[in-house]
Amino acid sequence: APRKLAAGNWKMNGTLAALAEIDRVLAQPAGCDVLICPPATLIQAVAAKGIATGGQDCHAKPSGAHTGDIAAGQLKDVGASHVILGHSERRTDHAETDAQVAAKATAAHEAGLVAVICVGETEAQRDAGQTLDVISAQLAGSVPDCATAANTVIAYEPVWAIGTGRTPTNDQIAEVHALMRDRLAARFADGADFALLYGGSVKPGNAAEIFAIPHVNGALVGGASLKASDFGPIVAAL
Ligand code: 13P
Repeated sequence: APRKLAAGNWKMNGTLAALAEIDRVLAQPAGCDVLICPPATLIQAVAAKGIATGGQDCHAKPSGAHTGDIAAGQLKDVGASHVILGHSERRTDHAETDAQVAAKATAAHEAGLVAVICVGETEAQRDAGQTLDVISAQLAGSVPDCATAANTVIAYEPVWAIGTGRTPTNDQIAEVHALMRDRLAARFADGADFALLYGGSVKPGNAAEIFAIPHVNGALVGGASLKASDFGPIVAAL
């Protein structure tokens, strides 16, 4: 069975002062894996605390003339074990395509990182009844052939639920997670063991019911991962 994972994506938030929040989360016992993905400036300091640490993006190449980018091996070098790839904010702000996400995931695997690959439909796509087709296409295009349950986690993040306080119904989450499980099982020998996360407005108040949905193996948490007073109860709910 997949391992349970509570992952925090700090996005472009946090300075050295925020490290104290991690101490507070670490002070409580956790019945699941806990991952913090801080901005790149804090990866080394977070990893030094002995908690699983991830980047929020990496380049597909191992080195070179790519000002402002970070290679997967560089994340690994400062203590990262994971990297988020294909987040909808990267797909929107930086026009990342499925093929680019797959290339980055391959680079992450070659560097020994676990790729946390994000998929999710827009509100217009959901309203048009395209959700399952969109998720299928993103999985097919963004998850490389070298993916295994050991080196890849999939996060379902409906774009319209990110930072909005809106979440899909439990049935809607269940439908997408069942589809993702089916698609992975059809393609990968160990597809049943990939951890599948839900992300989008996860809060202490809705975490337990979301974690009870079949094939939800954890959460990718944005805003509520920034404060231990929010992230701590979410970790405890898993
Ligand atoms: P929020 O939890 O702030 O909605 O963000 C979700 C997300 O994008 C995590 O990657």
